[in-house]
Amino acid sequence: MIVAERKPLEEIRGFIEGFERVLVVGCGGCATVCLAGGEAEVKIVGSALRIAARKEGRRQEVLEDCVTRQCEPEFVEQILARVKEEGVTALLSLACGVGVNFLAERLGDIPVFPGLNTKFFGATEELGVWVEMCAGCGNCMLHLTGGICPVARCSKSLLNGPCGGSTDGKCEISPDVDCGWALIVERMKRLGTLDELAEITPARDWSSSPHGGPRRVVREDLRELAAEAEEKSVAASR
Ligand code: SF4
Ligand code: SF4
Repeated sequence: MIVAERKPLEEIRGFIEGFERVLVVGCGGCATVCLAGGEAEVKIVGSALRIAARKEGRRQEVLEDCVTRQCEPEFVEQILARVKEEGVTALLSLACGVGVNFLAERLGDIPVFPGLNTKFFGATEELGVWVEMCAGCGNCMLHLTGGICPVARCSKSLLNGPCGGSTDGKCEISPDVDCGWALIVERMKRLGTLDELAEITPARDWSSSPHGGPRRVVREDLRELAAEAEEKSVAASR
């Protein structure tokens, strides 16, 4: 999932203080799973903002909503409709940065503010602890490293074994950070595939990663299906 955490309330309050009618919108996807921007968090943030406005004597209405996902048109439509019908003047998104971008592109002159700091792609280690596991490099090499990612889990994204700073399984940047390569070696030992590491991974073409610019995935098979469905519906309506 995409892991995010809520921005400090004071920062959020500063974004929206000049707006009369603010809609706080949560997301039922990753933001809910990492307990940062689901229905419950929308209620908490909404109440805190209403209390702050009252205390400061500001005229501000804070509305609340939560959609299934803020990164898909069908769910975002309901937010756009509400913004129009209820005269919303600013939106606070409790989704990851994808949701904020997606809404911002569709909301014309209505500003969209981020209520979360989007952190990384990761997993829940235990309640309250999330760890980064993938950097979205666009060319997965986990088949070479026992399923543990050297791009995300080695602090230097080294592809051919550890640097000289690995000590007792910890990374040289901090004794609290596991050395990604120590994890890889231990895992491959257990799998009996350690000798595969003797194979040198050549220098990578990083253009598939975010460094290559904004990326797109296009599935022609799905686009064709959508075009066929559209044609059928036009034919049926004649
Ligand atoms: S190799 Fe790339 S795609 Fe695979 S887990 Fe690591 S960052 Fe993610
Ligand atoms: S100590 Fe391990 S995780 Fe840290 S930079 Fe070196 S190889 Fe990577």
